[in-house]
Amino acid sequence: MVHLTIDHKPVEVPEGTTILAAAKSIGIDIPTLCFLKDINEAGDCRMCLVEVKGQRGFATSCIQKVEEGMDVLTNSIDVIEARRTILDLILSNHHRDCLTCVRNGHCELSDLARKFNVQHIEYEGEMTTHTVDDHSPSLIRDFNKCILCRRCVSTCNRIQGIGAIDCINRGFHSTISTTYDLSLNDVNCTFCGQCITACPTGALREKESIKDVWAALNDPDTICIAQTAPAVRVALGELFGQKIGTNVTGQMVSAIKHLGFDYVFDTNTGADMTIMEEAHEFIERLNNHGVLPMMTSCSPAWIRYAEKNYPELLDHLSSCKSPQMMFGAMIKSYFAQTKGIDPEKIKVVSIMPCVAKKAEILRPEMEVNGLRDVDFVLTTRELGRMIDYANIDFNELPDADFDDPLPLASGAGAIFGTSGGVMEAALRTAADWISGETLQKLDYSAVRGMEKIKEASVTINGQTIKVAVASSLKSAATIMDSIKNGACEYHFVEIMSCPGGCIMGGGQPIKNSKTQSSIDIAKRRSAALYDIDQASTIRKSHENPVVKAMYENFFGQPGSEVAHHYLHTHYHMHPKYNIPEDTQ
Ligand code: SF4
Ligand code: SF4
Ligand code: SF4
Repeated sequence: MVHLTIDHKPVEVPEGTTILAAAKSIGIDIPTLCFLKDINEAGDCRMCLVEVKGQRGFATSCIQKVEEGMDVLTNSIDVIEARRTILDLILSNHHRDCLTCVRNGHCELSDLARKFNVQHIEYEGEMTTHTVDDHSPSLIRDFNKCILCRRCVSTCNRIQGIGAIDCINRGFHSTISTTYDLSLNDVNCTFCGQCITACPTGALREKESIKDVWAALNDPDTICIAQTAPAVRVALGELFGQKIGTNVTGQMVSAIKHLGFDYVFDTNTGADMTIMEEAHEFIERLNNHGVLPMMTSCSPAWIRYAEKNYPELLDHLSSCKSPQMMFGAMIKSYFAQTKGIDPEKIKVVSIMPCVAKKAEILRPEMEVNGLRDVDFVLTTRELGRMIDYANIDFNELPDADFDDPLPLASGAGAIFGTSGGVMEAALRTAADWISGETLQKLDYSAVRGMEKIKEASVTINGQTIKVAVASSLKSAATIMDSIKNGACEYHFVEIMSCPGGCIMGGGQPIKNSKTQSSIDIAKRRSAALYDIDQASTIRKSHENPVVKAMYENFFGQPGSEVAHHYLHTHYHMHPKYNIPEDTQ
């Protein structure tokens, strides 16, 4: 242990602790900007500097380790003045369009400016100007608001293992760029959006679909149908001040109805459909010497990653479309037919925790009988913005239910939103189907939790099935490399692109560095999904009567020709996206 004083208070912390962490352990909060715990700890911005008695110059507290007998001051006049100067310098080359910025009200830079009472900029001078990059189907990059903190770069490298972006040039000309400054479409970017949730400012954001959705809602000839992904309901409340991981399903449905949607359905039911097809496909592969391990295909950033990096292994991917796409295809076929609605008049709007879903709907193969499966994707954040815009008092809304005739989803569908959930849902159904019995076992705890790679073995009818669950693309690469070098013994693998699964998707509410450092956000949101599962009357996808009716009345059996026509897809080494011209 090391003993020191911080702001005259004695502290005892393990050797190797940073001054920042030591201060935090006794409740002293040092401001940071580029710091993101376990992701970006590089001391680039120097906002966290402190005074160490006897040391020349200031110490950067996020990287400097404690030493025996250190005497640290975190808030001396000199420290405050120095931090203020750093802030002035950052702001002097920042396009300060706060009123029209997507991060207005929750920007770490503007929070610091307020904290330090910045009322004018000391250093006015030349500013760098960048063209806004909106060529990606999912992300917009506006480096006029970039402070070069590199949180995005570290996230892309260290968490996702992609390295699509990096800092180039020196000094005043420094910027974050891709190889040869190509569009994100043309490099290894997967559209996962993890860089957006890492960014402290408005430099990175999703490509909004709000205007298109308002237009559809205001068109009297259009029937607007919303579907909401499992992870949205356990995060949306955070945008309205509710605790992280609060389940706001009823208020969410109520708010969407207030926005003017004709129907609100649950993508969890689409997840149940995915399990019907995926479990069937897995058993077919298992029994007929098909390609194993079979890998899940719900996460579009994972699909793009596999297509670009492991094209020789694409036959390991399940041919199932993701829940949002299956559900969209079903709405424009079975649902439209049941209700006697012209499917051409329907616009399906998916509300998703993910920005890669915006790219997924633009793939040419996500179309059946000339109709797009899904027309628009809104992130959880965009839904929050629409609710604000419509002046809806979210927290005062009464609960509402999903609409008939698709009001029901299983608990298995709910846990699709968390790492391990797709595997657990698939095992519940596959185990029943392989054994030919209705098994009592529902919980597969070995695949739960937030570890990057989880393994489990399940014995059904004397047959042992080895499964693995990986979250983050870096973990996906570990599994793919093991398949390539012949060391992989799994039969079935779940991959989710974002660490912890969709609950931590790139479209979810953004938490500042302090919250990310101190609260296990993934654990809280995940627990809320498991609570929904636990409270569900139906916890196996194949027991959902709504899904059973779809198969009896329309799709036939899982894996049938009709099911394949609507619910399955294929993959390409060079994926394409039909990006509408006016958004390029
Ligand atoms: S990034 Fe922050 S400081 Fe910059 S314009 Fe947006 S809200 Fe204002
Ligand atoms: S979207 Fe994902 S892959 Fe693309 S730059 Fe951001 S973190 Fe990297
Ligand atoms: S884009 Fe955002 S996260 Fe990346 S360096 Fe700029 S401000 Fe930091």
